[in-house]
Amino acid sequence: MTTIETRAPAAGFVEKTPLERYAAPERPSLIGMSRAELADALGAVGVPEAQRRMRVEQIWNWLYVRGATGFAQMTSVSKDLRAALDGKFTLARPEVVAEQVSVDGTRKWLLRLPGENQSRPHEVECVYIPETDRGTLCVSSQVGCTLNCSFCHTGTQRLVRNLTPGEIVGQVMIARDRLGDWPGGRHVTNIVMMGMGEPLYNFEAVRDALLIVADSAGIAISRRKITLSTSGVVPNIARAGAEIGVMLAVSLHAVRDELRNELVPLNRKYPIAELLEACRNYPGLSNARRITFEYVMLKGVNDSLADAKALVKLLKGIPAKINLIPFNPWPGSSYECADWEQIEKFSEYVFNAGYSSPVRTPRGRDILAACGQLKSATEKLSARERMALRAMVMTD
Ligand code: SAH
Ligand code: SF4
Repeated sequence: MTTIETRAPAAGFVEKTPLERYAAPERPSLIGMSRAELADALGAVGVPEAQRRMRVEQIWNWLYVRGATGFAQMTSVSKDLRAALDGKFTLARPEVVAEQVSVDGTRKWLLRLPGENQSRPHEVECVYIPETDRGTLCVSSQVGCTLNCSFCHTGTQRLVRNLTPGEIVGQVMIARDRLGDWPGGRHVTNIVMMGMGEPLYNFEAVRDALLIVADSAGIAISRRKITLSTSGVVPNIARAGAEIGVMLAVSLHAVRDELRNELVPLNRKYPIAELLEACRNYPGLSNARRITFEYVMLKGVNDSLADAKALVKLLKGIPAKINLIPFNPWPGSSYECADWEQIEKFSEYVFNAGYSSPVRTPRGRDILAACGQLKSATEKLSARERMALRAMVMTD
């Protein structure tokens, strides 16, 4: 397997290029197809044009309201049509190769996806986080990530491939299948695009998938309960607002360009001022619809009170929430999590300045499901790394 690395000459930040080609299955899955694509699929098995719209709605309901896993379940569809569809298509979701349940109830699924040109398959992770008033599913958008944020485990994975809409919607389907969530969705109430990958670098697939997830005649998770997190792909922030309309989270992590260049190298291409300008222009912002700014707390790096003050100043005028994320260590990472006392002081300052500033409780650390720890088993940890990791988790 090869990874192609390109260097943006002026910006000087290294970015991996995603591999786009992979073997399409012989019988494609209907999961993730838009209504227009479903209509074409019906056309391919001989459904006359005049009937397609009605059939699309019928099948959409079987797929996304009732969670059908086989054509045989579609009892309102004629036997002949079911057989014809079965000959050409499937309702397959990505293959689940492992399920881990954390002591705190967090669940992590390891999914296997086809590799490109017959090469070995890829793996991505999807995490379900139950809370008292909601259940949040953390969804991946890419295998690995082309960006190399210095504190993120996913960024260290060499190989990158974009997920298809079916593979993104498929993660929601799997969670609902596994949690017994059809119909209705009592468990999965919220979606965060905060798994592996940079969602705004796989824009079209993420958009098409989220439009399916939000569709009121299907899974129907409202756009206000879907949050897309970006490290700051400025040109696509406006597109996300216009074409998807979900809530936005921005991985800020630093208040000075010099430091952010180091932590989030994409900052060299889109510096803080440009990023915040794009945030100010995000459509539909109000006190009820605020942007979440994520800020990972790194000891001695970005956790001082001076940083907190600068943060408040920087965000002035933007309806914002600040989400402080204790750094989750991973084997080989060169940062330490800020001290709890310091996190509290930081949080208090930000709170007193009028911002909601929850500290994100690390969830599922024992199964490496916490933010930034996702890295698929394609690149297995060495025994030494596992021991180092266990030591870190135990001392938390
Ligand atoms: N690529 C997107 C979304 C995925 S990362 C983005 O960067 O926004 C989800 C969040 O976890 C981001 O805010 C990211 O910066 C943060 N994160 C990454 N590694 C982390 C780590 N080791 N500890 C804590 N948070 C981390
Ligand atoms: Fe990619 Fe986000 Fe990790 Fe940065 S923090 S490497 S953008 S997944």
